[in-house]
Amino acid sequence: MPSRRSLLKFATALVGLSLAAPTSTWSDTPVPVVATFSILGDMVERIGGDHVAVTTLVGADGDAHVYQPVPADARAVSQADILVFNGLAFEGWLHRLVEASNFDGIRVVASEGIAPIAFEGNDDHAAYDPHAWQSLANAVVYVDNITAVLAAVDPANASSYYRNRAAYVAEIKALDAEIREIVAGLPEDGRTVVTSHDAFGYFSETYGLHFVAPHGVSTESEPSAADVAALIRQIREEGIKAIFVESITDSRLLEQIANETGASIGGTLYSDSLSEPDGPASTYLDMMRYNALTLARALST
Ligand code: ZN
Repeated sequence: MPSRRSLLKFATALVGLSLAAPTSTWSDTPVPVVATFSILGDMVERIGGDHVAVTTLVGADGDAHVYQPVPADARAVSQADILVFNGLAFEGWLHRLVEASNFDGIRVVASEGIAPIAFEGNDDHAAYDPHAWQSLANAVVYVDNITAVLAAVDPANASSYYRNRAAYVAEIKALDAEIREIVAGLPEDGRTVVTSHDAFGYFSETYGLHFVAPHGVSTESEPSAADVAALIRQIREEGIKAIFVESITDSRLLEQIANETGASIGGTLYSDSLSEPDGPASTYLDMMRYNALTLARALST
């Protein structure tokens, strides 16, 4: 498929317009945007509506920690006007992809401006928990960063982007209040759960549940036998009742931990990815609501 830029040049040549005309005058052509993973792709679509054409690199149920780009990704990036990514060292594979695609558009670090949570890693290069979208308060920051760049790149449709932003932020804030209420109804002494990897630090900080996990903040590293043994001890000692599998990771280790401790599998959480469209978490807001309800169901019994 020809790129927006080549189409634009072709079309402007046909109608005899100056090639120097700003692209914003071509307001019927959606702005090509690449988002690195499904949660960001959904946010860009909510804000951009028909004025953007979004390509999402890591799709539904994909694991962006360990993604390996394919040739089509480099093509999409090279044709994009805007590249939206999480930052906080989440997409370790992105730098090489951007280099290889000669991307010359505008980069949006979606998490820019949130208060990052430091974690005690055993390597030097990833000092902050990247999963900032797991707090709805942070999502407002993401949405504002995306909106500002869309409006700057495509000023002809800026009012549309800001209108969509306002409606979206109202929904985000309403859901934030809903989740605080859901968690407030849970027993105080039964709020620790086990997940596969440490993706819920921001959820924990914002909503007051406590999460432990055999994998660290990335799915990249395998837990050691000693780590797993320590986790099993902790589950027994603290009487942790619920273990949650994640859509993006293999559930076998968690099933084994459940078997050994007698804790039950409380359901599937969506940490780093949306579900397919027919699944329970096909938008960012549905994902946050589904996770909260799944946690509450398991913890309130
Ligand atoms: Zn993760």
